[in-house]
Amino acid sequence: MARKIDGTALAAEVVAKVKIDVEDLIRHYGVKPGLAVVLVGSDPASEVYVNMKSSRTVKAGMNSFMHRLRETTSGEDLLALIDQLNSDPSVHGILVQLPLPRHIDANRILDAIDPAKDVDGFHPVNVGRLSTGTGGLVPCTPLGCIMLLETVIDDFRGLQAVVIGKSNIVGKPVAVLLLERECTVTVTHILTRNLPEIVRDADIVVVAAGSPGLVRGDWIKHGAVVIDVGINRIVGADGQRGIVGDVVYEETDHAGAVTPVPGGVGPMTIACLLSNTVKAARALSLPQETAAK
Ligand code: NAD
Repeated sequence: MARKIDGTALAAEVVAKVKIDVEDLIRHYGVKPGLAVVLVGSDPASEVYVNMKSSRTVKAGMNSFMHRLRETTSGEDLLALIDQLNSDPSVHGILVQLPLPRHIDANRILDAIDPAKDVDGFHPVNVGRLSTGTGGLVPCTPLGCIMLLETVIDDFRGLQAVVIGKSNIVGKPVAVLLLERECTVTVTHILTRNLPEIVRDADIVVVAAGSPGLVRGDWIKHGAVVIDVGINRIVGADGQRGIVGDVVYEETDHAGAVTPVPGGVGPMTIACLLSNTVKAARALSLPQETAAK
């Protein structure tokens, strides 16, 4: 039976550490970390995500600043808000919930966020820092994937890792983080040929395709560690709605360890967002040598 990697439990540990760090920042430095979340429009899934992020931020002892803008908000008005948040000393993290309405150029907005407050890690400066291994804020979901892997793998060096999906928010940064740990990394995507054969060689498989049940048990090498990032909303044969991953979990008994969906990567994403907000608050408010500790 494969070991289940419990993302809910690890996320609780990360959040507990965040709370301690927040108390320390408030007590010793008078700094209360603040996260600004910007939502444009009223996409129901985005609403759920931002409400969850906001309530978790408050529960962790930090300030949450919610900015809800109308669907028709112009790119210029959104840029003006980002400018204001960039210069607001009580705001240490800025998160613009994606997707943005079509008439707004998302790249232009993300580029306008102060990289020091870019807790999503999507700004080109942070992407560059990640790919050169020079610090910066790391995107939350990829960071969560690595932390989950670290609960079951002591030494990554030389392991074969396959990443399925090459998005800027998951696949590519996960690949960079694995490369940084000296894995031999293969990044695959929708046009990759012989995907099952490539996956069969892997010691680590990270799947972020958004394709329910894509990875079957016979793709997975005995003892491999599997991280399932996929979140797919489905309606079962019984008419019940549910969430499944990209991996057929029931077929992974021979794997070394697997993340379930839900309860795997999902909880880690928000925990890492909170952790990035504290990291940003420290870097922005404390002397450099203290912030790095
Ligand atoms: P995306 O659509 O931007 O990218 C998907 C990638 O998967 C693409 O590179 C595509 O080429 C590849 N792909 C799609 N179908 C494939 C197939 N059949 N075979 C091989 N490659 C295939 O998606 P994304 O934003 O990276 O998200 C991927 C999944 O992860 C989604 O289900 C998303 O909901 C989920 N996600 C979860 C979290 C979390 O917190 N757990 C965070 C972000 C994304």
